[in-house]
Amino acid sequence: MNRDKIRPEWIPSGYKEIAKTEQMDNANRDKKKFNLNICKDILFGLAIGDALGVPVEFKSREEISRHPVTDMIGYGMHNKPAGTFSDDSSLAFCLAEAIASGFTLESTGRNFINWRYDNYWTADNDVFDIGMTTQRAIDRLVKGTPPQHAGDFEEESNGNGSLMRILPLLVYIRDKPVDKRYQLIKQVSSMTHGHARSVIACFYYLEFALGLLNGVDKFDIYHNLQKDIAEYLRSINMGRDETSLFDRLLIDRIDMIPENQIRSSGYVLHTLEASIWCLLNTDNYKDAVLKAVNLGQDTDTTGAVTGGLAGLLYGYESIPEHWLNQLARKDDVEDLAVRMFRAV
Ligand SMILES: [Mg+2]
Repeated sequence: MNRDKIRPEWIPSGYKEIAKTEQMDNANRDKKKFNLNICKDILFGLAIGDALGVPVEFKSREEISRHPVTDMIGYGMHNKPAGTFSDDSSLAFCLAEAIASGFTLESTGRNFINWRYDNYWTADNDVFDIGMTTQRAIDRLVKGTPPQHAGDFEEESNGNGSLMRILPLLVYIRDKPVDKRYQLIKQVSSMTHGHARSVIACFYYLEFALGLLNGVDKFDIYHNLQKDIAEYLRSINMGRDETSLFDRLLIDRIDMIPENQIRSSGYVLHTLEASIWCLLNTDNYKDAVLKAVNLGQDTDTTGAVTGGLAGLLYGYESIPEHWLNQLARKDDVEDLAVRMFRAV
């Protein structure tokens, strides 16, 4: 039956607007209140993006454009079956585990060591990918260096190794004031990547994620952060020599920048820019992560960093089911999401 045909003529003209608002409320229901689904959005969102990129890691954009990734595939670069996640997800899961058991930097550090030397939270009992900066930091943790001092602090050590694993921290810091959020982000980044550039990138990323968690429109978040992040960085006397590197995000319109000017190397700034660009230029999870992976080069990390935000924005239920079913340790990831949710 066509409901329009039986609707009385006297229904007030605002009816459609009211119905539309109710629909939006339903769509945003999960976003307005912290719940278990949000933990799944984060963990599955980033791990699926990671797994999509693993087989084509290091392929150039030109090379990948000849055979674009359109689905979860296996083998390729690391010779792993489809659905295998890499260090990005493993280290994010290590952080999520620490949060699930009452977060401390020390427990996070112990989990990192267990991952590196005991295959903890690996997809298949194999650490097949690790960044040099992260390796050095974990060896300092083994020697007893305090976690917040374990990372490299040099300008050359600004790979995307802390950005790729930091998203679960969102659930722990979401209700804390901005100063506390920044301090915790700085400490967790500095376990491997202590330079201001990596810290700012992680801060921007988690503030963006916080907006998504609160159900704010992605373009509104983008515009709000141009003011809020810039003001916060000024308030802590972060120098222009560092903050100006973020101008394409904080002053320009990153979404309007053509693809050939978006880079996708392992440099933290490239990964952050690419992930926001992919999120703003697509309208669903699948397209966002495929766009990220098909940028080439550091495909798993660009996929993971984009995937985490896209998971939060569209919900893990919107991830293609056959991708979820292919993910290594899917049930363990789900269990981790439950335990993380119960702990915060
Ligand atoms: Mg990786």
